[in-house]
Amino acid sequence: YFAKVPQAPADGILKLSVLSKADTNANKVDLGVGAYRDDSGKPWVLPVVHKAEQRLAEDPTANHEYLGVGGLPALTSGAQKLIFGADSPAIKDGRVYTIQTISGTGANMVAAVFLKQFKQPQDAAVYISKPTWGNHRSIFETAGHEVREYRYCNYTTLGLDISGMLEDLRKAPRNQIVLLHACAHNPTGIDPTEDQWQQIADVIQERGHFPFFDCAYQGFATGDVDKDAYAIRLFVARGMEMLVAESFAKNMGLYGERTGCLHAVASTADAVPAVSSQLNRLSRATISTASAYGAKIAGTVLQDTRLYNEWVENMGEMSRRIKTMRDLLRDKLVALGTPGTWDHVSRQIGMFSFTGLSTKQVGVLRDQFHLYMTDDGRISVAGLNSGNIDYVASAIDQVVRS
Ligand code: PMP
Repeated sequence: YFAKVPQAPADGILKLSVLSKADTNANKVDLGVGAYRDDSGKPWVLPVVHKAEQRLAEDPTANHEYLGVGGLPALTSGAQKLIFGADSPAIKDGRVYTIQTISGTGANMVAAVFLKQFKQPQDAAVYISKPTWGNHRSIFETAGHEVREYRYCNYTTLGLDISGMLEDLRKAPRNQIVLLHACAHNPTGIDPTEDQWQQIADVIQERGHFPFFDCAYQGFATGDVDKDAYAIRLFVARGMEMLVAESFAKNMGLYGERTGCLHAVASTADAVPAVSSQLNRLSRATISTASAYGAKIAGTVLQDTRLYNEWVENMGEMSRRIKTMRDLLRDKLVALGTPGTWDHVSRQIGMFSFTGLSTKQVGVLRDQFHLYMTDDGRISVAGLNSGNIDYVASAIDQVVRS
């Protein structure tokens, strides 16, 4: 039985993390992992999360019972307001159903399985950006979809190829499924402007495509939760139906607690009972119920005004430190006279920067300088700090010149 199972292709990011962990050189810098690090290179428990945990620990009624199939209401109702806006008409009209999931990945998978069963037409393909988070293709293909790409990154300017993107979405057959990153596009850090989002919405509406937003960085991207939800709220305001995956891994630092939600926005409240029943059924068949601990932390933070405000400050601290590192890296490369232009490092947002370094240069940086990044030249900017930025800039400078 097992002898006939073929080897699965290696996951680039997981492989990189194994290599980096095994490297004991004192100069090592891990810019692979998509997790926030503080200025001393350590994981950061958000102070507000620590407070919520203390509250939970002191609650005499706390227990470890199963959550209901929909998840923890404190989380799902708070997450809805966070993403669509507290006074969103869609929420008020009862047009939104939210189910708790196993973080953003689980939300993507529930969406993928739901769409496989109910997409209209049944032969619709899923369009993902080129490039995108590596797991998107894997998730949607595993669920049985055909996956196609639309142009996204202009590999010369390292900015958005808006005309290529619009053209590909326009030329696709009608009624396809389009996966969009709500903010802080992974891996490029390139986001459409508000005006470009309007153009994207125009084409998606004209062509009858179904939008699926993946939102893994709300508030983490710019420090402003409303700004980071601009695209989602624009599509909702235009009356479009959609699915939205939401992760609390990065913005609340709850990575391993697997805390997230999937939202379905319908154009009428009448559609909600059937849609929610199917999402519940699919979730029940795969995970039965979602994980409780992270949901209780996030639910506590989202439901308490004081903790919520403190959380926004904590997110601001993370996004400001990342922005400072972007600017510093750009400034240092410019000061070193490193060939090429480096403004894109500052311009891109979120956790990652698409540096434009080639796979070959990435290999030399890894083998000779103990500097780890994905083969596509993506760095996790959160891995930079005041202790390693000079070393990183100098290593990149040497490799680009050689
Ligand atoms: N979507 C995107 C675009 C991501 O970057 C990530 C995190 N790397 C996720 C989803 C899912 O992360 P998680 O399952 O940890 O919430």
